[in-house]
Amino acid sequence: MNESLLEGYRRQLSGWADENRLRKLNTAGPRDGARIVRGDRLVLNLSSNDYLGLAVDDRRLAAFYAAQTDANRSTLYGSGSSASRLMTGSTPLTHELEALIGERYGRAALVFNSGYHANLGILPAITDRHDLVVADRLCHASLIDGLTLGRATFKRFRHLDYDHCRAILAAEREQYRRVFIVTESIFSMDGDVADLRELVKIKEAFDAGLYVDEAHAVGVRGDTGLGLCEEQHVIEEVDLIVGTFGKALASVGAYVAASPILIEYLVNSMRPFIFTTALPPVVLNWNLGVFQDLPDFAGARTHLHGLASGLRQALHEHGLETRGSSQIVPVIVGQNARAVALGERLLAQGYLALPVRPPTVPVGEARMRLSLSANMQPQDLAGLPELLGEGA
Ligand code: PMP
Repeated sequence: MNESLLEGYRRQLSGWADENRLRKLNTAGPRDGARIVRGDRLVLNLSSNDYLGLAVDDRRLAAFYAAQTDANRSTLYGSGSSASRLMTGSTPLTHELEALIGERYGRAALVFNSGYHANLGILPAITDRHDLVVADRLCHASLIDGLTLGRATFKRFRHLDYDHCRAILAAEREQYRRVFIVTESIFSMDGDVADLRELVKIKEAFDAGLYVDEAHAVGVRGDTGLGLCEEQHVIEEVDLIVGTFGKALASVGAYVAASPILIEYLVNSMRPFIFTTALPPVVLNWNLGVFQDLPDFAGARTHLHGLASGLRQALHEHGLETRGSSQIVPVIVGQNARAVALGERLLAQGYLALPVRPPTVPVGEARMRLSLSANMQPQDLAGLPELLGEGA
């Protein structure tokens, strides 16, 4: 590319570097249980979303591939679907997975290639310029990107501030035909949890639809692992429940559980669903097996919650500011440079916790995001509060 064309990009990159927000791609080393090779060392991996440890569960992986035969290799273990869903990319495996998800949630379901695809496409498909979407201010970038692409008017309420949500709806509801309220269930950067029962009351009061992104809660919350909607007993009241396979379920892909009418509408109108190659058989097959087994991970869920509450308590005892009540434990340190220095210091002591900086989180709220997994033990985390206390 011509030097004069590159100049603007170079200037922006050095601006980001000056603000300590230049991102670099790290090459992740092999994983060994809860640990990962970083450089020449094995360190505790506090930066992964493998909340149940399934991505490194050797026995599960071995059993999965041991079931491969000459007869089922391409149908259950194939590496490519070779077409979009509306062409030849929907197979019996896809339908089996969607039927299972639908059955568990008591409605219809549709599978997507990723949570990003789902959030980018669903709301723009089911809303138009006569509609309003009201979203929690800390909703994931994929939801915000979808709302920016769509035609609906889009307003945000202060994080978890449902009075603010009510106030927006009281002022605006009448001007719109349809209204949707959008939230994450466990918030990815704060680890705090939505009050879905309260949101159900609001949606009923204002005749709105409710859309809940359970990316960080599927597998981790609820008696059978369906997420926070299950834990708070609101599955039936939530109109669109999005779950992903990329985190606790150790794979890739996503789904929405919703009314059959909405599912049919999405199949006919949702661009990131229609115009992309379908997930390959090997991924669908894995997703089917893990989703089937979700109820069996109750012990892992209990262990994970015990780890998280123990760590939170120890952090408080060391005078550290943390938030939330989930397996994601953020430690707020403020300035970017401080978070970066703390990340290096933790790494030197055997902990991989990446600093999260703007624009992922608000300016001045850089943090260490400690992401726990059921394959950790309390002693793995024991040294963390003191180290963080020294550096924060
Ligand atoms: N929603 C939330 C809340 C997320 O945190 C993420 C991933 N970081 C996504 C959606 C996107 O999911 P996926 O990784 O499957 O694209």
